[in-house]
Amino acid sequence: MTATYDSLGVVGLPAPISELAARSWDAVIVGGGHNGLTAAAYLAMAGKSVLVLEARERLGGACTLETPFADERFLVSPCAYLVGLLHPRVIEELDLERFGYRTFTADPNQWTPFEDGTSLFQWQDSSRTAAAVKEIAPNDVDGFMAYEALFERIRDRLRSGPRGDVWLGDSPDHAALEELFVDDVQAAEVIFGASIADVIDNHVKDERLKAALHGQGVIGTFAGPHDPGTAWVHAHHSLSMIGGWGFVEGGMGRVSFCIADSARESGAVIAAGAPVAEIIPGQGVRLVGGELINAKAVISNADPVQTSSLLMSASGTAFQSKVDSWAITSPVVKLNCALSQLPTFTASPNDPTIFKAQVEIARSIDLTQSACDAARAGIAQPEWCELYFQTPYDSSVAPPGMHTMSVFAQYVPYELAQGTWDTRREEIGDGVLDAIARFAPNIHECVIERQVLGPPDVEEKVGLTGGHIFQGEILPEQMWDQRFSARTGIDGVYLCGAATHPGGSVMGVNGRNAAMAVLADLK
Ligand SMILES: Cc1cc2nc3c(=O)[nH]c(=O)nc-3n(C[C@H](O)[C@H](O)[C@H](O)COP(=O)(O)OP(=O)(O)OC[C@H]3O[C@@H](n4cnc5c(N)ncnc54)[C@H](O)[C@@H]3O)c2cc1C
Repeated sequence: MTATYDSLGVVGLPAPISELAARSWDAVIVGGGHNGLTAAAYLAMAGKSVLVLEARERLGGACTLETPFADERFLVSPCAYLVGLLHPRVIEELDLERFGYRTFTADPNQWTPFEDGTSLFQWQDSSRTAAAVKEIAPNDVDGFMAYEALFERIRDRLRSGPRGDVWLGDSPDHAALEELFVDDVQAAEVIFGASIADVIDNHVKDERLKAALHGQGVIGTFAGPHDPGTAWVHAHHSLSMIGGWGFVEGGMGRVSFCIADSARESGAVIAAGAPVAEIIPGQGVRLVGGELINAKAVISNADPVQTSSLLMSASGTAFQSKVDSWAITSPVVKLNCALSQLPTFTASPNDPTIFKAQVEIARSIDLTQSACDAARAGIAQPEWCELYFQTPYDSSVAPPGMHTMSVFAQYVPYELAQGTWDTRREEIGDGVLDAIARFAPNIHECVIERQVLGPPDVEEKVGLTGGHIFQGEILPEQMWDQRFSARTGIDGVYLCGAATHPGGSVMGVNGRNAAMAVLADLK
């Protein structure tokens, strides 16, 4: 058996479908995204018979790898590109390092160039960050550090406070969270609905610092920095228990592939190119080819909207009414670029260290908000971007001397007021590069080839409804006990994807939680 790691997730069928259908399984998992694979690994480790059915030829869902360019030595992480929230228990319990999982923590973690030619580094070591802030805004050092400390406090209380790690198992409800933060009003405001703009305003005055900080509150979210709840989006991304955000050696998809290899070693059977057409509660699933696969439990890694379309009998259930009101439209366009050379940033033309950071392209809170408002009206206005260059850490993802650049940009609508994504995709891609060119004028010349993925492209490629990167917004109204839980309330049907508690990103814990629920119920 070729390791999933070596085949870049293209695993095919392990046996003819008729053979797989002749067995009766403890659990069938619809979808081989990283969470479906994680659920499979835990169930197999517990001795259950598990079959993963992935629609696409390649495993990983939004956490995968591709070679989309003419030169196939460019290894592209088409969707997710950075790891930070993967649960340490998943890494340890599935023994991922033995299957090849290695990371490089990004340090500096952020570099932001400003229009006046100054710039700001943020480092893992907060004293270095304080020194960098002091250089451009000495009066804001204390406020900046208090801002960082606020989000660290939230992380510590949620992940290792009196309730233990709230990511594990069922979500705490609103009252339990209030109780947890009863002595910390500022933190409670972040959790229950403050805007990132307000929280930043309460801490710093310098407009450049505000430009540098606000983007973390809107990542993947169809909301602007002035909109309520965006402070929580930043908090969610600050909950890392693996030392911050970093690159995965060989590309982000390796996370999924290592999980798949761990699952297979424990006995899980993984089939790719096997789309499920119907989930039949209490019975199993029917494949698009018509075959019925019997299973005691069906665990869907597909998002709730897709899952409901597979459930012919969901109407009238509490699950369906939650699906009907689920906010799941993405404002993100992703550009994956092959570069002949690294671009030259006007604010720092000679320092290679900047490419080791996430490079933040942001002019002001108000311009980011305007871009969000424009996208709400159907206008693509890429204004805020994050750029990631993997090659300074890991040259294995590009031919010698060349580089990759991931651009995560906002805001774009799913449906354009004028034209369609098919007629305007490349123009919108140019718009993203133009936004970067304000700070790195030669960016267009550095790009040899690029892949532009708007929300409909992500939807088509990965099956994420609306292209939503978290299988649904992670604003406070869709978090905690308002998120989906692993148990759908429908006989033998579970969810294990990013739409479940504790939310989206490459975390694995959603899959682990689902497996634990199934194991408890199968007893
Ligand atoms: C552009 C983009 C950038 C991102 N960047 C980051 C990042 O840098 N870091 C990070 O941590 N997170 C990032 N995310 C978010 C993260 O990738 C997702 O939240 C996470 O990967 C979701 O994983 P999942 O396993 O829950 O679901 P998915 O990855 O959505 O997997 C679901 C799987 O189910 C399969 N499926 C669906 N329907 C069927 C069916 N009928 N039959 C069989 N199979 C089916 C799909 O093909 C898919 O493989 C990004 C996402 C996107 C889109």
